[in-house]
Amino acid sequence: MDTLRLAIVGYGKIANAQHHPAIDNDAGCRLVAVASPNATVPEVANFESLEALLDQGPEIDAVSLCTPAGVRSSQARLAMAHGKHVMLEKPPGATLAEIETLREDAERHGVTLFASWHSRHAHCVDSARQWLAKREIRRVDIEWKEDVRVWHPGQAWIWQPGGMGVFDPGINALSIVTEILPRPFHLIDAQLQVPGNCQTPIAASLDFVDDDVPIHAEFDFRQQGTPPIWNIHVETDEGRLTLEAGGSRLLIDGELREEGPDAEYAGLYQHFATLIAEGRSDVDVSPFRHVADALMLGYRHTVEDFVE
Ligand code: NAP
Repeated sequence: MDTLRLAIVGYGKIANAQHHPAIDNDAGCRLVAVASPNATVPEVANFESLEALLDQGPEIDAVSLCTPAGVRSSQARLAMAHGKHVMLEKPPGATLAEIETLREDAERHGVTLFASWHSRHAHCVDSARQWLAKREIRRVDIEWKEDVRVWHPGQAWIWQPGGMGVFDPGINALSIVTEILPRPFHLIDAQLQVPGNCQTPIAASLDFVDDDVPIHAEFDFRQQGTPPIWNIHVETDEGRLTLEAGGSRLLIDGELREEGPDAEYAGLYQHFATLIAEGRSDVDVSPFRHVADALMLGYRHTVEDFVE
């Protein structure tokens, strides 16, 4: 395949801010169409729905699904049934079981399914994984705090079933931690703060263990007036590793060792193209499984109503 002809489905905040520029800057990809109820994107074919795009649209090889997770699985199934490769924004769906159906569909139709985790492509994630592989891990602390009004303005879906509330960004932290820690871990306690007028948590306090190694996470959507805090600290037998700014800065014992530009979405599209070229899928649900466990095990505390 010379150039990967792509369509974006769901042209909202992340499609506009990250997917479209990443595709435009990738010589191996070309955006040829968009399917979204209200978007009118210049220089590409626009459709109100994926159905209309598949019915009337230009030839495409793949779709990038940037819709809210709750509507994504039926779109992925439809696209794969039409022989299109599929990239799923994170989180990959609304339930774990639907991802298994998608995995089977991809195999049956002989197409690539990529459940993407953009934070795993942050500049220092791979270096952190390599550094930790040689050390004994003693404790992990995750802080993932941002202002929901800044990062998800007017997005009602985030408070509805399937929207995941604070786990929508929190799953990014879990995607990094599941990548850099050498062993699996599991949840033992979850305290969830749920606004009285919402279905999903605005904050979560989580405790995991890996044998006797404690892993604690604080996710909070109520961070106001400061930049977001997207940090992970790992205590080891040879010092403290910190990943800051969502994985773009790496410090050891407080000393900056590495930092790099934000190229997460460039990395996603390169990986998607490689998977397609190699005839493979990449579907790792481990971050999503921890969120499902937290929603299953979590003690729900009702807190004051959320006002946009
Ligand atoms: P958003 O701004 O609400 O965009 C979602 C888009 O999907 C909207 O444009 C919406 O169209 C469209 N849509 C909804 N239902 C559709 C359907 N059935 N068919 C086609 N299009 C449909 O949300 P977002 O922030 O971009 O987030 C989308 C996904 O990206 C989420 O899973 C989120 O976790 C992930 N993500 C978001 C961020 C971020 O910073 N926002 C970062 C990384 C990943 P209308 O506007 O016309 O309703």
